[in-house]
Amino acid sequence: MEINRAQRLQQLPPYLFKEIDRLRDEVRSQGMDIIDLGVGDPDQPTPAHIIKRLAEAAADPSTHKYPAYSGMNRFRASAAAWYKRRFDVDLAPATEVITLIGSKEGLAHFPLAFVNPGDVVLVPSPAYPVYYSSTIMAGGVPVQMPLTKDNGFLPDLGAIDSATAKAAKIMMINYPNNPTAAVAEAGFYEQVVEFALANDIIVVSDAAYTEMAYDGYRPLSFMQIPGAREVGIEFHSLSKTYNMTGWRLGFAVGNPELVGGLGQVKSQIDSGAFDAVQIAGIEALEGDQSCLDDMRRLYTKRRDVMVDGLQSLGLGVEKPKATFYVWCETPKGMKSAEFTKRLLSECGIVTTPGNGFGAAGEGFVRFALTVDEARLTEAVERMGKLEL
Ligand SMILES: *Cc1c(COP(=O)(O)O)cnc(C)c1O
Repeated sequence: MEINRAQRLQQLPPYLFKEIDRLRDEVRSQGMDIIDLGVGDPDQPTPAHIIKRLAEAAADPSTHKYPAYSGMNRFRASAAAWYKRRFDVDLAPATEVITLIGSKEGLAHFPLAFVNPGDVVLVPSPAYPVYYSSTIMAGGVPVQMPLTKDNGFLPDLGAIDSATAKAAKIMMINYPNNPTAAVAEAGFYEQVVEFALANDIIVVSDAAYTEMAYDGYRPLSFMQIPGAREVGIEFHSLSKTYNMTGWRLGFAVGNPELVGGLGQVKSQIDSGAFDAVQIAGIEALEGDQSCLDDMRRLYTKRRDVMVDGLQSLGLGVEKPKATFYVWCETPKGMKSAEFTKRLLSECGIVTTPGNGFGAAGEGFVRFALTVDEARLTEAVERMGKLEL
């Protein structure tokens, strides 16, 4: 029997990091010592008090049943209280907060609730690949908004022609940004609200990195902007904030119609996040937050080692204010793929080619700060020996 995958899958590029993992394993099997700065997955363990809470909750039989579709009331109340403390945003837990099995899950399902075949979805380029692929899987048409260095890696809303703006159903934004590490200020978010209201566009704000910021910088939430609640939904993740990528826990907040639509899709597809994981998530959000200071100190030092090193090699790169990524220009206008390949085969360093995140990422590579300072120093030394 001939088995053909659906057109929606045939339209998708291979998932970026699956491909990078394959190349890394190939070089490693040849005996090369690999420094893996590819995937944005924290190398540090989940803080001990969160693990302890999971262990207790997992031993409690009341968590062994199907969870509530939209999440535990207590977790949603905890997420709302966290938004109030962190951003001074008031949210009704029952209607304006939903638990997710990681924010990737929510972002991937969201277009199924609002996109009809042929609807335009404005997605940044470069970007986290899920915005593009989830649009395709919902039958939508992704239209890329280039993030350029000249524009501070913010989309230029004035460059979106009025026909596209009228056809657009959703705009995806993500600050602090993966992969460029750029941040957004209130002025940009105000423009987004104005643009969305003028064109009836739903705004999806992916806020996975609001807590990963340095030198005292405190990223905003899109939800803090007047009017944002009318047009938007914001996705938050415990993955990067509390080193919980393996746990699969996130949440979305915002306009109750948008939260509700996502909830309707989810109720048909999954049956919610394990209650014990949500209970551990409450501990993460409400417990001792000194782990965040430790995390920020750790990445500040790594960032400084890496960026100072890359600058000493003459590469075009700036110190990010947020995220654990370093977005670096390739030397001498080399293509992203070529530089990435040479870093891997000649230096044993895994990076992600900028164009893998979208065409506008060409000319850059992304380093994830997921190894210790000594290994980053080693990476810079190896790069110093590359003949460019
Ligand atoms: C890591 C990441 C996520 C995914 O987070 P999960 O909660 O682990 O699914 C979402 N968006 C961006 C931009 C990310 O980098």
